[in-house]
Amino acid sequence: MAKIHVKTPLVELDGDEMTRIIWQLVKEKLILPFLDVTLEYYDLGLEHRDATDDQVTHDAAAAIARHGVGVKCATITPSIAQVGEFKLKKAWPSPNGTLRGALDGTVFRKPIICPNIPTAVRSWKKPIAIGRHAYGDIYNCREHYVPGPGKAELVFTPSGGEPVRITIHDFAGPGVIMGMHNTERSIRSFARACLEYALTEGIDLWFATKDTISKTYHTLFKTVFAEEAAARAAEFKTLGISYRYLLIDDAVAQIVKHEGGILWACMNYDGDVQSDMVAAGFGSLGMMTSVLVSPDGKFEYEAAHGTVSRHYRDHLAGRETSTNSVATIFAWSGALRKRGDLDGTEKVSAFADRIERAVLGCIAGGVMTRDLARIIHNTMDPPRDSWVDTAGFIDVVARRLAG
Ligand code: NAP
Ligand code: MG
Repeated sequence: MAKIHVKTPLVELDGDEMTRIIWQLVKEKLILPFLDVTLEYYDLGLEHRDATDDQVTHDAAAAIARHGVGVKCATITPSIAQVGEFKLKKAWPSPNGTLRGALDGTVFRKPIICPNIPTAVRSWKKPIAIGRHAYGDIYNCREHYVPGPGKAELVFTPSGGEPVRITIHDFAGPGVIMGMHNTERSIRSFARACLEYALTEGIDLWFATKDTISKTYHTLFKTVFAEEAAARAAEFKTLGISYRYLLIDDAVAQIVKHEGGILWACMNYDGDVQSDMVAAGFGSLGMMTSVLVSPDGKFEYEAAHGTVSRHYRDHLAGRETSTNSVATIFAWSGALRKRGDLDGTEKVSAFADRIERAVLGCIAGGVMTRDLARIIHNTMDPPRDSWVDTAGFIDVVARRLAG
């Protein structure tokens, strides 16, 4: 069988631990035998990040900006303890944070659904994608413990102007205060990325805040979203999709009764909390994909989970592992589909569909890793014949793909 030619190089970002092992297997068995593709390789494995003083992460971000599409393996964000353990020069920052910053991107997470894997929420039939604003709010706040009586104020000094002072609270005793911010530029690029994603996927867009309570801060988010949605209203209409604004508590109540098939855009904190709720509701972290979308249309695909360190330790100790590779495989298929769409090469996009059908076909046929068998059998220790090991799953997908 002739290999399918991929016109533009695909940027490949390798990573760490168990996902690095899966990465190699997926590439060797599901990608390279079928595609004639130039992979522009960046090794974001911790060792190489350390050796290059993290320059490799910046180079990878620049490559994605140049070519438009990248696919990334999960990476370790070293803790202080790991700096000693791995003899690192320093605690390098999160590569995902660096990529998000460089591409000014928004992260979208979407679960992969299989008919035979029950969801915890019965009404959920289609994926609920979450778009999380990844700048500012409490993640970038300043806070202060108030030890006793005194006055807390918000002070803003405009460049070249007189300070504006707002009393936060007159404290009669101990308490606590916090100051946080966002920028209109970041909110706008978040709104644009969400609208772009909804249009690409052809799904409704929901956005929610608590603007009834936060009449300035949350209201700015609402206003900017409304402006950006109005700018693309005609395209939404053409696709038959809609933009809907809700209060956050209403959105939460609606979502558990909804059948899914929407993008839910969330402010930073809501996205942090709700994306874990949605992931848990749909089953396993191994089935959650993630894509970073920049406002100017650059895409970086990955699995939403980490490097699955616990399984890697088992692997190193020679014990059997059953790590779910589905989200990693879908990162490759997502990137290839986008590459095909951007290049106008239908065969590449069709191959992405084929990989995904092969994966879903395996699971529907009862071939799955242990995390999914746990859900089906509703026990932490499902029978050994109900699941396959890490490499075994990828082998079965490869056979389906070739057949
Ligand atoms: P994790 O790698 O997501 O794993 C947490 C647990 O979730 C695992 O122990 C496993 O549970 C389950 N799990 C996750 N993915 C799975 C899969 N594909 N198949 C089966 N089970 C899966 O999170 P972590 O252990 O907290 O973090 C490990 C490292 O990953 C850290 O260094 C962290 O910085 C990094 N990280 C990277 C990214 C990224 O690059 N995007 C994201 C998150 C974390 P059981 O043990 O119960 O089987
Ligand atoms: Mg969270």
